[in-house]
Amino acid sequence: MSNKELLAVSACLLGMNCKYNGGNNRLPEKTILQLEESYCMIPICPEQLGGLPTPRKPAERQGETVVMKDGIDVTKQFHDGALAAQCILRERGVRIALLKSRSPSCGKDKIYDGSFTGTLKSGDGVTAELLRSEGIKVFTEQEINQLL
Ligand code: SF4
Repeated sequence: MSNKELLAVSACLLGMNCKYNGGNNRLPEKTILQLEESYCMIPICPEQLGGLPTPRKPAERQGETVVMKDGIDVTKQFHDGALAAQCILRERGVRIALLKSRSPSCGKDKIYDGSFTGTLKSGDGVTAELLRSEGIKVFTEQEINQLL
């Protein structure tokens, strides 16, 4: 049994095609290999865990709600996904997460502002917010040096 530290990772950062457009945000190979040296990685995609299909329309937070670009309210799916991710981390005892920046689920500190114009505002994605509220240390790929 490995004694590496557990690290939850946004699945798209590991190359899973779970991004809204059917693509991914895979990290450079060297970075993934470096992470593997120190961590046992657990991929999570809160939007898929919440039951949303891939591909899907882009979504952004508008206050406490989350809407797709066509106006459909997907707040429930985003909350379900956040709770599912929380459950996985709790069951496995994971205390650190590497999440995709700017995402309405995974983003930390800065997310798109709900206008679908590429404008950022202060705030967390729904899942990042929930995980941080219980003391999980969240990093984005832009802060990856702190994990390596
Ligand atoms: Fe990646 Fe998170 Fe979006 Fe899933 S919900 S595609 S893991 S940023």
